[in-house]
Amino acid sequence: MSVLIYIDQAEGQIKKSSFEAASYGAKLAEQTGTSAEALVLGNVSDDLSALGKYGIKKVHHVADAQLDHLDAQLFIKVIAEAAAASKADIIVISANVNGKAIAPGLSARLKAGLVAGAVALPDTSNGFVVKKAVFSGKAFANIRINSPIKIISLTPNAFTPVLGEGVAEVAPFAATLEAPKVKVTATNKVKGQIPLSEAELVISGGRGLKGPENWGMIEELAQLLGAATACSRAVADAHWRPHHEHVGQTGGSIAPNLYFAVGISGAIQHLAGVNRSKTIVVINKDPEAPFFKAADYGIVGDAFELMPKIIEAVKKLKGK
Ligand SMILES: Cc1cc2nc3c(=O)[nH]c(=O)nc-3n(C[C@H](O)[C@H](O)[C@H](O)COP(=O)(O)OP(=O)(O)OC[C@H]3O[C@@H](n4cnc5c(N)ncnc54)[C@H](O)[C@@H]3O)c2cc1C
Repeated sequence: MSVLIYIDQAEGQIKKSSFEAASYGAKLAEQTGTSAEALVLGNVSDDLSALGKYGIKKVHHVADAQLDHLDAQLFIKVIAEAAAASKADIIVISANVNGKAIAPGLSARLKAGLVAGAVALPDTSNGFVVKKAVFSGKAFANIRINSPIKIISLTPNAFTPVLGEGVAEVAPFAATLEAPKVKVTATNKVKGQIPLSEAELVISGGRGLKGPENWGMIEELAQLLGAATACSRAVADAHWRPHHEHVGQTGGSIAPNLYFAVGISGAIQHLAGVNRSKTIVVINKDPEAPFFKAADYGIVGDAFELMPKIIEAVKKLKGK
């Protein structure tokens, strides 16, 4: 028996959320007295033996260009094949965008119980019970998986990777590949920005900023701090900012070290995507804004007066 961790990559580089899944899977293998093996699909430039640092013993690699981009049906088939070959009874996947496309289909194919969006290691003292956040992060549910094969998709940023010294064995895996059912004809990439899902610092704006013409101060502060920019759904819906910046229940879910919210009310649907941030700073002119209840630091005031002062102070601090 083993724990198989699916390692997601983009343009040949392993995603941060997959290092978390690797470390989580390795800890789970330790807990259940089995070994942690990883599966990498597509060509990668990263050194796969370095996954050993996260506790992975063996990496199965299908280095085929057909798997460079996600094709959920094909990936599900290959992961199921690798799970059978490595006799995996637990499969761990990051609940990132690709993981969300893969996990349900894999669960159906393997007739395996799935907990989508786990936030902690399972309790294996009496069965196999996995904790996940529900009701937009307002509560937790502990879900027991009874099927012989179990699948866990791990919420990004919910588990801090533990680094060790190991070196993983890397072995090619001969998967049966069939003709793709989908073909990527074009990819439009956002250039020159820090990806929101990977960012440690995030500066975010809401409808309180009145219009897209006022985003200069959000971008300037983000650039000074090396932060990513985000926004509320109201802002993305108004086309002030692109939808990939929208965070919350129906947008991205993030957990940076700093979430700096300017002119955002803090509706429950917004908080659902940001309430795992380590430190939350809120600027809002309404002292009753709900965001202040979730904030570590709150400033009651007008963003148009405060932001230029904050930008000046950061510039001074950085000697710019
Ligand atoms: C099913 C569903 C899903 C949803 N999913 C999401 C989601 O994923 N993400 C999301 O964000 N929302 C989501 N929403 C919408 C959510 O309920 C809120 O409507 C939205 O978050 C409000 O955005 P906002 O805070 O930018 O705007 P507003 O609610 O208009 O708040 C603007 C804030 O700015 C403050 N302000 C105004 N002027 C200034 C100033 N000069 N200086 C400082 N502060 C100022 C105001 O006091 C106010 O608090 C969802 C709603 C539903 C029903």
